[in-house]
Amino acid sequence: MGELSTAHGVIQTPCFMPVGTQGTVKTLSPLELEQSGAQVLLSNAYHLFLRPGMDVIKQAGGLHNFMHWQKPILTDSGGYQIFSLALLRKIRDEGVEFQSHIDGTRHFLRPEDLIDIQRDLDSDIVMPLDECVHYPCAHDHAEQAMERTLEWAQRSKEYFARNQSHIAGSGQQILFGIVQGATYEDLRETCAKQLIEMDFTGYALGGISVGEPRTLRYNIVKFVTEILPQNKPRYLMGVGLPEDIIQAVESGVDMLDCVVPTRYGRNGTAFTSAGKLTVRNSGFSQDFTPLDKECRCYTCTSFSRAYLRHLCNTGEILGLRLVSLHNVHFFLELMRQIQRVIKDDKFLEFKKEFFGKYNNGADSR
Ligand SMILES: [Zn+2]
Repeated sequence: MGELSTAHGVIQTPCFMPVGTQGTVKTLSPLELEQSGAQVLLSNAYHLFLRPGMDVIKQAGGLHNFMHWQKPILTDSGGYQIFSLALLRKIRDEGVEFQSHIDGTRHFLRPEDLIDIQRDLDSDIVMPLDECVHYPCAHDHAEQAMERTLEWAQRSKEYFARNQSHIAGSGQQILFGIVQGATYEDLRETCAKQLIEMDFTGYALGGISVGEPRTLRYNIVKFVTEILPQNKPRYLMGVGLPEDIIQAVESGVDMLDCVVPTRYGRNGTAFTSAGKLTVRNSGFSQDFTPLDKECRCYTCTSFSRAYLRHLCNTGEILGLRLVSLHNVHFFLELMRQIQRVIKDDKFLEFKKEFFGKYNNGADSR
């Protein structure tokens, strides 16, 4: 268990970051997130740069003020989105040219521009531009993307250091390095070691959970995490389900983020201590027990499965909100439990107990 100090407060790790791509964690208010114990939110520079645009956010005084969230924010540069969403990409050593996936407008962004954008967002933790590849990816292509990621990391670091020297006091941002290299251990190792030489405040594992088999993913995460320094935060980007989180933390991961709690929430799927549960299930029509008996969230202390099922079946927005709220709370509570059992040196007992209940599956009862 560790701590990470940022300009907007201290983050206890291991931690899970709810995702607010557009400056909002879908359907939930910042107050609800705070009450659920969220310590840090993740947002996305690429999306916010396109909409509402940096002029608006600068006028608002940064993203914290704009969205009314005064705790830490980590922003992804959007490298992954540029490579997965944007149209007509041209990647050059200098930067990346693309067309907006929203209105087709053309943009050219260099690593330095992403540092500027994230400075204007006033992100606490800044991610450099990186090149993501899909799975499967040939070794030479993955190597090229990894080399470019390293070069961009170096440029980002230098530019970031020059920028930060102008800012006095507590407003300091933190810059992480991102390890790429697809599923190839040699590439991951080279990338991690060179980033360590550049000396970042924390290190992220990028390009994970992009379609590779789970065992391969677990192996790569473990392999890279073991190379990275233990006294600095290690952040696994875009992962994952509760079982993936537990596995990652066991490998030494300190920070994770994923859209899963709210995406599943909007589909009417709840994560519970007894496994995943489909709220629309006809078996719940007269079930007046909470979604999860062990959960203390507003949804579980106030509403029955029968009512939530009714809301989901009638397409009522409250249903999606309440299930999302429960899911976010479930993920955050899982991290609090993990923090406690790590402190008490009981992680393995906890893991066994968690899977013993979770793998039964709430739907199959
Ligand atoms: Zn709950």
